[in-house]
Amino acid sequence: MERREFLKCVSVGGAVLGGMCPAAMAGDRPHRTAAAGKGSSLTLRPYQLACLVCSIGEGNDAAGSEKLKRVRGEIRENPDIPVKLVCNVGDAFVYQDPGAGDDCHGSPDFNRKRDLDLLQRLDLPPGITLPARIMLHRLWDRIESVSGICGYNVPTSEAWKGCPKANSGCYEKGRKKGIGVLIPPRTQEEMVMEKEKSLKAMYEAEAIAVRPHILLCAVCQYGSGTRPPYLPDNLPEMLQFVLKNPNAKIKMAEAADWMMCGPCPNRAARLNACVNVKGSGGLTNQLRDANTLWKLGLRHGDVVNARELYRRIFERIPDTAEICAVSKGVHAPSVWWDPCGERNVKEGGTPAYVKGRELLTREFGFNKPPA
Ligand code: SF4
Ligand code: SF4
Repeated sequence: MERREFLKCVSVGGAVLGGMCPAAMAGDRPHRTAAAGKGSSLTLRPYQLACLVCSIGEGNDAAGSEKLKRVRGEIRENPDIPVKLVCNVGDAFVYQDPGAGDDCHGSPDFNRKRDLDLLQRLDLPPGITLPARIMLHRLWDRIESVSGICGYNVPTSEAWKGCPKANSGCYEKGRKKGIGVLIPPRTQEEMVMEKEKSLKAMYEAEAIAVRPHILLCAVCQYGSGTRPPYLPDNLPEMLQFVLKNPNAKIKMAEAADWMMCGPCPNRAARLNACVNVKGSGGLTNQLRDANTLWKLGLRHGDVVNARELYRRIFERIPDTAEICAVSKGVHAPSVWWDPCGERNVKEGGTPAYVKGRELLTREFGFNKPPA
């Protein structure tokens, strides 16, 4: 056992787990684990992520190793499956070194360079776990070609021979086919059907389930002139309904709750998650929900009269910057970046929200003196 493998093994609970180091478990398979109640995950080397794209470029579903076929199938089945990227880098990252079981196309040094070249271009550290959707978008956006990464025009020795497909154009062809080959978008039929069903549920609900910050998005939409019918979400219909029904109630819902987000192209139904902004939008939106609840002094699960809720929103949230802006210095492709967040930093708020707040203050009659 190499020293780095020994260090890695003893660093987990101070013992060699089950007598078997991860290096010994590496082989021609994705490491697939099931965290209790959270579903499966995949552990891959960075180069194997690129190989997925090569296998798409090869043009048939049987392309690639058994491992690649299984990984493709798992990602198609669940595009947000957690993927952990590991490589043999040693140093302070030794805790995640997987061992040489999946090395190929050259020496351990070639394998290390290939993985590190890819991670550097992806701007990700070894050992990181992210939903497959985020990783793959980053791969598509930042790595146009694997020539010079997976193989070189002039190999300096057998140890550096590289992958025979590196200069074949397979990766580039796969990339051109688009990420939709691995992560198909929601179909129009499905979204139309969900619109119909979720709207019906909203009109019949005792309390309309809305995640907190999109109560504000509804105001931005109103200020920019969006009115029903609106296919991508149910917010314009929700506003119209609560304006007409003074006794309507709203429940503070968790995440991308179906009643408002059901028809959205960015909703991952199996996780009740928002996968806007190439998969990471759910994170900024969770923070916006928490910001909104804090401002309103409410909690998830609270049920409030809709009219009184909007009165409180307009009193306590005159503009969106405090809720929606990303931290200064956050830029794409950070998982904390999104276009609304950036606009809120640049403009100090959202003019459409200010306008929507003004219009809705009149529509709700909040500016009239009490009768
Ligand atoms: S600025 Fe905030 S409230 Fe407005 S649409 Fe964007 S995320 Fe929603
Ligand atoms: S799924 Fe995300 S982007 Fe779509 S409406 Fe819900 S919060 Fe907005």
